[in-house]
Amino acid sequence: MTRPLRIAIVGAGPSGMYAADALTTQAEIPVSVDVLDALPVPFGLVRYGVAPDHLSIRSVRDTLDRILDTPGVRFLGNVTVGVDIDVDQLRTFYDAIIFTYGAARDRRLGIAGEDLDGSIAATDFVAWYTGHPAADRATFERLLPTSHAAVVVGVGNVAVDVTRVLAKSAAELGHTDMPQHVLSTLADHQISDIHVLGRRGPVQATFTTKELRELGELADADVIVDPAEVLLDAASEEAVARDKALARNLAVIRQWAEREPAGRSRRIHLRFLTRPVELLGEGRVAEVEVEQTALDGSGGVTGTGRRSRITADLVVRSVGYRGVALPGLPFDDRGSVIPHQDGRVLADGEVQPGWYVAGWIKRGPTGIIGTNKKDAAATVASLLQDAPTLPLAPAAAPEQVDGWLADRGVSVVTTAGWRAIDAAERALGAQAGRDRTTIHALPDLLAAAR
Ligand SMILES: Cc1cc2nc3c(=O)[nH]c(=O)nc-3n(C[C@H](O)[C@H](O)[C@H](O)COP(=O)(O)OP(=O)(O)OC[C@H]3O[C@@H](n4cnc5c(N)ncnc54)[C@H](O)[C@@H]3O)c2cc1C
Repeated sequence: MTRPLRIAIVGAGPSGMYAADALTTQAEIPVSVDVLDALPVPFGLVRYGVAPDHLSIRSVRDTLDRILDTPGVRFLGNVTVGVDIDVDQLRTFYDAIIFTYGAARDRRLGIAGEDLDGSIAATDFVAWYTGHPAADRATFERLLPTSHAAVVVGVGNVAVDVTRVLAKSAAELGHTDMPQHVLSTLADHQISDIHVLGRRGPVQATFTTKELRELGELADADVIVDPAEVLLDAASEEAVARDKALARNLAVIRQWAEREPAGRSRRIHLRFLTRPVELLGEGRVAEVEVEQTALDGSGGVTGTGRRSRITADLVVRSVGYRGVALPGLPFDDRGSVIPHQDGRVLADGEVQPGWYVAGWIKRGPTGIIGTNKKDAAATVASLLQDAPTLPLAPAAAPEQVDGWLADRGVSVVTTAGWRAIDAAERALGAQAGRDRTTIHALPDLLAAAR
């Protein structure tokens, strides 16, 4: 081949950035890589998911950012594939495309009252407090100051993040990069009770011990656990004996169950074997009807029919993320992922030459940031293996895609534009004595990029 292989990566989250890294740190096949993202800023859920008070995890951004300095890697932000350019058009510019566009939609509970005012998806709450440009600011600025008790449905790490953000004092959040309006709204809210509901037992909850422990270390919140809900069946006992992490979680929860509350102004009620069956209220949610469940001996639960109600005017549904289909691409609706074989996209069981997939849209929303590195490297290995036989794109020169997008009025944010946003956010943060303040509004991000 006389020119480098031209590769588009759709999504600049960790999996996209790690794919770019794997492509450009190999020496056998010359490549040039464009990383496209719908947003004018890179790093996906590392910026718009990872909790802003977890500074060391958020600093993964610095590692990912260095990948953008690699010769042959370009960032093309503010380009939504499927809207600004479709997949077939992309094929005319690139010899291969790696889809790494994530799985950032919420899963539904599927219960009555789910769409009442005051019932929100954790995805939307997280988007708001991290300053995502598409976040519905008005809704949170209306709901939070008028809420007194919240129910968080789910006991994974995202549910724990959401609970911690609601339970922390203003002083505990002041050092984060949250937008100023978010900090102000959180500082003013009057939520005194947060009920966190897990439908299974403490051993089946998916939070990690570090995240769990943090709940017990908050300045102004007690964690309350009912000993009657810390139940283990034979399957749970076996799981605890096998898995040290589960044993550590259980020890933390048992300690809370034995401890007297210290009379702090907020209370986190960590509930197990409790599932929501209906959200009730006139227009806005006012109560959550819950059913007690019982462990079935094999890791699952059955309903007991015993119901009660929790008073709550805010419900945050945190029962998982899911991917969505991109027009023109095959999609597995059941798994909410793109079907693949070793990272090669499959349509009706057939490999689609030149199409690849990595990250959450390949595996589903599981694993930590680092999981995406290995995953992206495996997909890139398949791509490099296929390189000699890939059908080459007719218009594979950077200026051709740039010209095509410019002709359609797409205002692409390049690496230089992102760096200008980065500098503007750091400058904004410095004014408030913080490392960074996230710029949230799209027009402001685009203005900073210019
Ligand atoms: C709330 C939350 C907290 C988390 N906290 C942690 C943590 O503390 N530690 C940890 O290790 N992991 C954490 N994770 C998991 C981690 O964020 C994921 O493993 C990782 O971000 C998945 O990477 P990805 O690149 O596949 O997807 P994403 O990070 O979602 O990136 C996908 C990118 O694709 C872009 N995109 C989407 N559609 C299009 C389109 N049509 N055209 C162009 N671009 C598009 C998006 O804008 C985004 O930038 C957390 C996840 C969530 C949701």
